[in-house]
Amino acid sequence: MNNRLVITIDGPSAAGKGCLARNLALFLDFSILDSGALYRAFAYFHNQGLNNKEIESSIEKLMFIPEKDDTKIFYEDTDITSSIRNEEIAKVASELSALSDTRKSLIDIQRNFMRSNNLVADGRDMGTVVFPEAELKIFLVASAEVRAKRRYLELQNRGQEVNMRDLIADIEARDMKDKTRTLSPLIPAEESIIIDSSTMSLDEVLSFTKKLAKKELNK
Ligand code: C5P
Repeated sequence: MNNRLVITIDGPSAAGKGCLARNLALFLDFSILDSGALYRAFAYFHNQGLNNKEIESSIEKLMFIPEKDDTKIFYEDTDITSSIRNEEIAKVASELSALSDTRKSLIDIQRNFMRSNNLVADGRDMGTVVFPEAELKIFLVASAEVRAKRRYLELQNRGQEVNMRDLIADIEARDMKDKTRTLSPLIPAEESIIIDSSTMSLDEVLSFTKKLAKKELNK
């Protein structure tokens, strides 16, 4: 690892990682890696019948445009954000992410994100596997109900109709799979700071995390 500063944000689905990562990256002027989007893109290209090598080169062509409320994902000038941010793709991503070939395909792509700038990276194994030497590691959690409600609003804002009960069941099943898989399971890195955002607003989590990041930058 070179001397870039890396902040990792890991945790279960819909804990608010993406939102926190985006806002923190915009505030600090860091690059951002939404590793979940890479696993979702992997699933999206897999569904189109591409093999792993073809998927890797397609993923390398993706463009990520972080905005305050979302990160837009483009493939060859086509906005594929809503094609990958839906529950069907999330399920396929969760299945494929348990396979070592999938994880191998994405490891270098993920590490390349810190080549040119300081980085905020969010996912499941950012602090444990992809960037084990990261200076600041956050593990963001929230209750399943709170997370389902957040995901419900997020999907509704994207114009997708979902059933709340199905959503809680999907989220819990996916978390269980992510936590219990053999490869890169969802666990906090030893030195991570655990934040429970169940009763905290994004602003509260953000200002707490900004303080931690500033301390790190001033070292
Ligand atoms: O974070 P997001 O919900 O977009 O991730 C989709 C799926 O991709 C997760 O349920 C998980 O199975 C997988 N994933 C992973 N490792 C990461 C990020 C996501 O296995 N670092």
